[in-house]
Amino acid sequence: MTNLHRLSIRELSEGLQQGKFSSRELTQHYLKRIEKIDAQVKSYVTVTPELALSQADAADAAIKAGNATALAGIPLAHKDIFCTQGVRTSAGSKMLDNFISPYDATVVTKAKAAGLVTLGKVNMDEFAMGSTSESSYYGATKNPWNLDYVPGGSSGGSAAVVAADLAPFATGTDTGGSIRQPASFCGLTGLKPTYGRVSRFGIIAFASSLDQAGPMARSAEDCAYLMNVIAGHDAKDSTSVDKEVDDYVANLNATSVKGLRIGIPKQYFNVAGLAADVKARVEESLKKLEDMGAILVEVDLNMVEAYVPTYYLIAPAEASSNLSRYDGVRYGYRCENPVDLMDLYKRSRSEGFGEEVKRRILIGTYALSAGYYDAYYVKAQKVRRLIQQDFLKAFEQVDVIAAPSAPTTAYKIGANLSPTEMYLGDVYTLAVNLAGLPAINAPVGLDDHNLPVGLQLIGNYWSESQLLSIVHQYQQNTDFHTQRAAIAEENA
Ligand code: GLN
Repeated sequence: MTNLHRLSIRELSEGLQQGKFSSRELTQHYLKRIEKIDAQVKSYVTVTPELALSQADAADAAIKAGNATALAGIPLAHKDIFCTQGVRTSAGSKMLDNFISPYDATVVTKAKAAGLVTLGKVNMDEFAMGSTSESSYYGATKNPWNLDYVPGGSSGGSAAVVAADLAPFATGTDTGGSIRQPASFCGLTGLKPTYGRVSRFGIIAFASSLDQAGPMARSAEDCAYLMNVIAGHDAKDSTSVDKEVDDYVANLNATSVKGLRIGIPKQYFNVAGLAADVKARVEESLKKLEDMGAILVEVDLNMVEAYVPTYYLIAPAEASSNLSRYDGVRYGYRCENPVDLMDLYKRSRSEGFGEEVKRRILIGTYALSAGYYDAYYVKAQKVRRLIQQDFLKAFEQVDVIAAPSAPTTAYKIGANLSPTEMYLGDVYTLAVNLAGLPAINAPVGLDDHNLPVGLQLIGNYWSESQLLSIVHQYQQNTDFHTQRAAIAEENA
């Protein structure tokens, strides 16, 4: 069985349940591929073969006994921001290089309960701050489509493992685009759910009012399977919403593309940094949806210029508060031979955090400090509300809103963008988090350098089923999501 890594989640589930292959065989197949190929991609921070094989054996036993769940025995990779009991959970930081989590994040608990097999923990920008995965303490992950390019970030490892077929699907988190942008850069489907749909319990916090976890996979169908596992109310997360969860798989054909009203915000297509071939591929995908029966409607989203400044105030403000817990006392990195308490705090934090994280802490602390709080933080919160209202107004006219996921395709590794250049690359994703809306990335072709381009569809609150269904139907009529990077063609 050399081609197990080419199977979809549905095919894997059927193959396992019908006894065509065992979970142990499947898991070993992936572990072998990781051993052979990941030295080039550098997507895993920690591989957990023992845990994986013991979970695989348990799944095989359950399948034999006839009491296995549908996904039992299918391997999964977790972004290294999800606490996993007994396994290092680093968040890509030196600060947590020695942190072995004593408990599981709810997403991990749910994955285990579904019988999924944990292959390991994958790389990310430090504390999820970044768009390239280069800020990780563990070094840069490579884009499987071209190893000289970044996979995007912050969930760059999650994107790279799937694109290189080193895991069939992966978890990611999205605070300002970190699922959608790497999915776009690596030719994958990735869903950022409505804020409150997936529990944040046990996810290392970046900006708590924006953070949300979601699936990254090849297709909308594969994402739907993972959403069925991870979505739902959790009493351990006070912002988790107690609302019935859809059956995302059963609903894959439930939304009619015929007559679907897709909003095209004209301001989005006039953004200065929008690359010509990104614009062209996105417009072609909209034409395809139109051919399938959708109605394209021009809408106004007037706050585009406020997205980057608003997010880059609110996210660092929350980060500076969340990251104050890393003081070298209870857990995480501690400096050598501190002379007194101040020295301990100062040096543990200066030595443990990387440059981008320090920049955010400084910006955030400044924005929250007495005398500046009203001028910056409170003002940003007001603008945040206006951004949300702008979307709600647009949703009075249309069912979903279309946009690029990113203004460009992947950057070269080491391109060394200035912080502001990098922040401007987030222009299409940030507002969704500020408003708490769901959005999905779907691959829609390649640019002139053979790098993937992504279409983003933004939905109204709780419309995850609808977004997955639209992309699923698009994927039934196109084959961009089945195109693979050369490295994924390699067999172990
Ligand atoms: N690139 C954005 C940032 O650096 C988004 C990160 C994210 O979604 N975690 O903050």
